[in-house]
Amino acid sequence: MTVRVRIAPSPTGNLHIGTARTAVFNWLFARHHGGQFILRIEDTDLERSRPEYTENIMTGLRWLGLNWDEGPFFQSQRLDLYQTAVQKLLAQGLAYRCYTTPEELEALRETQKAKGEAPRYDNRHRHLTPEQEAEFQAQGRSFVIRFKIDDDREIVWNDLVRGKMVWRGSDLGGDMVIARASESGIGQPLYNFVVVIDDIDMQISHVIRGEDHIANTAKQILLYEAFGAKIPEFAHTPLILNMDGRKLSKRDGVTSISDFKQMGFTAEALDNYMTLLGWSPLDSTQEIFTLEAAAKDFSFERVNKAGAKFDWAKLDWLNSQYIHHQPVDQLTDLILPYWQEAGYKIDGRERAWLEQLVSLIAPSMTRLTDAVAMSQMFFTDTVELSAEGSQQLQQEGSGAVLQGIITALENQPQLTETTAQDIIKQVVKAQNVKKGLVMRSLRAALTGDVHGPDLIQSWLLLNQVGLDKTRLNQAISKA
Ligand code: GLU
Repeated sequence: MTVRVRIAPSPTGNLHIGTARTAVFNWLFARHHGGQFILRIEDTDLERSRPEYTENIMTGLRWLGLNWDEGPFFQSQRLDLYQTAVQKLLAQGLAYRCYTTPEELEALRETQKAKGEAPRYDNRHRHLTPEQEAEFQAQGRSFVIRFKIDDDREIVWNDLVRGKMVWRGSDLGGDMVIARASESGIGQPLYNFVVVIDDIDMQISHVIRGEDHIANTAKQILLYEAFGAKIPEFAHTPLILNMDGRKLSKRDGVTSISDFKQMGFTAEALDNYMTLLGWSPLDSTQEIFTLEAAAKDFSFERVNKAGAKFDWAKLDWLNSQYIHHQPVDQLTDLILPYWQEAGYKIDGRERAWLEQLVSLIAPSMTRLTDAVAMSQMFFTDTVELSAEGSQQLQQEGSGAVLQGIITALENQPQLTETTAQDIIKQVVKAQNVKKGLVMRSLRAALTGDVHGPDLIQSWLLLNQVGLDKTRLNQAISKA
């Protein structure tokens, strides 16, 4: 069997982490089986769909490396297909026009509520005579198209994640609306209907989506049957939960992929993390892998039924691993946009210098955005002194030490790792002070603080752009 799967986002918001994770599982499954991964934009909700969201979704999927083989297909461009399908069901007597007004539906709901029953349509217009229809039309009532669902139907499927699933027709809320009315006749078709028409048309073999769609699946299976179409396999993936065990929502802060990018996560770390949200590799001790590697292993047998908790600490850890293992030239490319956004003047800096700076800070970075604060002092003329930095400069002997360094620097045509070490040794000897004092005073003068990245490397970088002497002179005036 050829595996054909799809991701079918609605462009009513930016690419959400839940949709992206569903895309990851679809992609992994398609790649594992050498199948096709299709992108379908479900933009039938004309009011809420926006082209900028479609753009955000496609940019996000591309950024994550979830390249698709076919599409994007837009449902808004396929309305003829849906209309024809509605007509077919009407002609077969499997669907009908329902003229119940919103007020009548509301009254029905109230009665059901009073009796403690679940709200459902009572199928009252299932068997209208042509005369009754004419009467309703004469009254100026509009209609919706409903698809017949028999209460005593049993719907069974073998879910690839959840095992045997059994639903009763009576659990589905009565005959379902598949299309709304419009002035010209059959109007906008609805989600559950168009999904089935598209999945049949696109020969989707496996429908992989979030478990919030389980009830839809039961309805959709009935539609496949009505069209005499082959029913695909279904896999309902677990929800993503927050740390309190509730469904991850906007209230939990960041949820869209573009936000994660903005916050300094790399695409690879996010892919890796999303893959682990509900799936585990055969060797479950293995936590770091590429999408390609995961695809080799991927199967639904190792997808959990239980919801997957979103753990920021774990994502941060994975991100730091990717940053620490990234070749420096690539990491520099990743960091550049964050520096640019922060307004750092990188144009005048040599590429080699930038890469040296990246090598210096990378080991302490967790997110790409960390590069902004960590490298600020390498791009600005003056450094801010922290309280500890200032205290260090007040230490006895500190001023003399810094003066000694400046003099030694003037006699030193080129600062290298060796000459820098020599200067420190010279000052220790000449002034008969502890090496610690020299190192700490030098750090406070150059960086404004008493902690930070490797001191000699920082000094070399500052020296290359002529910032070290200025800093040392400024510090002496404060010592
Ligand atoms: N447009 C639906 C959604 O975004 C697609 C669900 C499906 O995969 O069928 O949730």
